[in-house]
Amino acid sequence: MFWSGELIARTAPIRRRAAPPPWETPHVGRGIAAYLGLAIGDALGATVEFQTPNEIRHQHGTHRDITGGGWLRLKAGQVTDDTTMSLALGQAILERGAVAADSAAAAFDAWMRAKPVDIGNTVRRNLIAFRKNGSPEAAPSEHDAGNGAAMRVLPVALACFGRPLADILAASRAQAHVTHNNALSDAACEMLVLMVQDFMNGVDAPIVRSRHVDTLVARHPVFAWERKRVENPSGYVVETVQAVLQALFSTESFEDCLIDVVNRGGDADTTGAIAGMLAGAHYGNDALPRRWLKALDETIRQQCETQAEELLRLAADKSPAAETT
Ligand code: MN
Ligand code: MN
Repeated sequence: MFWSGELIARTAPIRRRAAPPPWETPHVGRGIAAYLGLAIGDALGATVEFQTPNEIRHQHGTHRDITGGGWLRLKAGQVTDDTTMSLALGQAILERGAVAADSAAAAFDAWMRAKPVDIGNTVRRNLIAFRKNGSPEAAPSEHDAGNGAAMRVLPVALACFGRPLADILAASRAQAHVTHNNALSDAACEMLVLMVQDFMNGVDAPIVRSRHVDTLVARHPVFAWERKRVENPSGYVVETVQAVLQALFSTESFEDCLIDVVNRGGDADTTGAIAGMLAGAHYGNDALPRRWLKALDETIRQQCETQAEELLRLAADKSPAAETT
């Protein structure tokens, strides 16, 4: 009937074209891949953490699957502090709408109370100091050059994507100084944030290397990484970064980069997490091996995907520059 057709025409909802899935926007897809890469590298590396390359060869041949176990006796696909501290930081940034030292410190403190499977010595010591003195900035220390702040930089890279450089650097220091107030840690954190952001923008590896890696080595020659292969990297941020850079720049896929770095043993969950973050941003979602994605803890996988997207939305909405509180 004529009138009913008219009625329908008047009341039918306007058809909207469905928004494309977020991962189809290139930088968003790469941001999600960075977060999944971080978790994958953590879960893969944790199995062989604190083993030497020889011990790994003996036990696994080449370690190439997410099988759990290790000194933490993890379930297959379970992640450790590298991923869970990142998620805690990201959640604090989203709740605050900004990168802020005090909310990061409160989030890390709550994370520690929830009895994480592992925790670094410097992180524990300085979070206990925060409980006592309420200051979200650890005292500067030459000795606090561990990789504990560098392993959790990703939420800052995402929340500050596209922001002015000064804001990015301030935000990086605000999160890092909660537990690691150290010049070498700062330099590593800042380099990693800027590398992730460049890779998300699709910048080629040689350019990323000259812009950020060469700059780091020029300012802090201790990071020089091209001479001797780093085996059994410790938790010292310099060795961690050297192992990661060697693996990243000597391979041509996400999978090869991660297998290279975790088979060096040592702090393998953390080298795996940092290499996974960089390689994820560089190679993108399609490069993540399906068997690793499938093995990864399902809840963690979803949290990484959702948080990456939300942090990037925050970056687009407003300036999340560090508040100096
Ligand atoms: Mn860990
Ligand atoms: Mn570790």
